[in-house]
Amino acid sequence: MIFLTKKKRIVIALGGNALGNTLPEQMEAVKTTAKAIVDLIEEGFEVIVSHGNGPQVGMINNAMTALSKSDPKQPNVPLSVCVAMSQAYIGYDLQNALREEMYNRNIFDIPVATMITQVRVDENDPAFQNPTKPIGQFMTLEEAKRVEEEYGYVVREDAGRGYRRMVASPKPAEIIEIGAIRTLVDSGQLVIACGGGGIPVIRQGNHLKGAGAVIDKDFASELLAEELDADVLIILTAVEKAAVNFGKPDQKWLDEITVAEAEKYIAEGHFAAGSMLPKVQAAVRFASSKKGRTALITLLEKASDGINGRTGTRITL
Ligand code: ADP
Ligand code: MG
Repeated sequence: MIFLTKKKRIVIALGGNALGNTLPEQMEAVKTTAKAIVDLIEEGFEVIVSHGNGPQVGMINNAMTALSKSDPKQPNVPLSVCVAMSQAYIGYDLQNALREEMYNRNIFDIPVATMITQVRVDENDPAFQNPTKPIGQFMTLEEAKRVEEEYGYVVREDAGRGYRRMVASPKPAEIIEIGAIRTLVDSGQLVIACGGGGIPVIRQGNHLKGAGAVIDKDFASELLAEELDADVLIILTAVEKAAVNFGKPDQKWLDEITVAEAEKYIAEGHFAAGSMLPKVQAAVRFASSKKGRTALITLLEKASDGINGRTGTRITL
């Protein structure tokens, strides 16, 4: 009798340290990142990759702003287009490194593809009433006034350092390209999707309008994992585990916690907004979404140890 065991499907969300902060850093970092991902493929897991884009979209946005400043014929490039550019740029580096790493290990039958991914957000999302994410260069008061008038940007003074554009971070509501992603994944391809949280779009009838917003990659990765019916969501970041009393003398690293425990720690304020909080919230959401689903938060270098139960913070129902 032949037993066919289905491969475990894991969505891996890569944090900033998997990609570095500059172009040369990224070219180096993706080699290590590719090794960690291909290790998991060799262990028999089906892997889908998503990633952040903070430094990269910042670089592209600044470059595009400089272009439109130096050449009046070049209009301002919307943030949604900058996110699309960052997905393509990061996808290229990852595709290149993953393909090479697989060839080095004599794996020739797994194509790698990046899906440029639009993610719909709700225009009534309360986040739009309260933009919290600073992006792009610092501006003078005159520049700030001009972009407010010309582009309708929300600009705020940032800790005495000048003025900065603030954008909303709405929740992902729908992955537009999910059908294409699923088809590729089901046919055994290694897919990179939802980069930078996805290109935020708002539905206007049949038209999807790019939104000047940033979707948190931890939440977008969680939605991707649910939509692909993944078994595990791994959030790879700069710490091996999440902690309570982080940075305090009584700090305690968390190993195995339930959704209820995680929710209690969230309510007690143990996880910093904008860094560990969205990860734990995404982990809770995934683990609660269906019985048997596990979320794991750990270091890139510990991905394999983590999935095999040796380290990381594991969250289950
Ligand atoms: P990424 O680029 O992977 O999303 P972030 O910097 O956004 O990384 O989030 C990870 C960081 O969260 C860690 O490096 C750590 O400094 C910080 N952090 C905040 N609160 C906690 C906590 N309670 N436990 C562990 N890390 C925490
Ligand atoms: Mg982050």
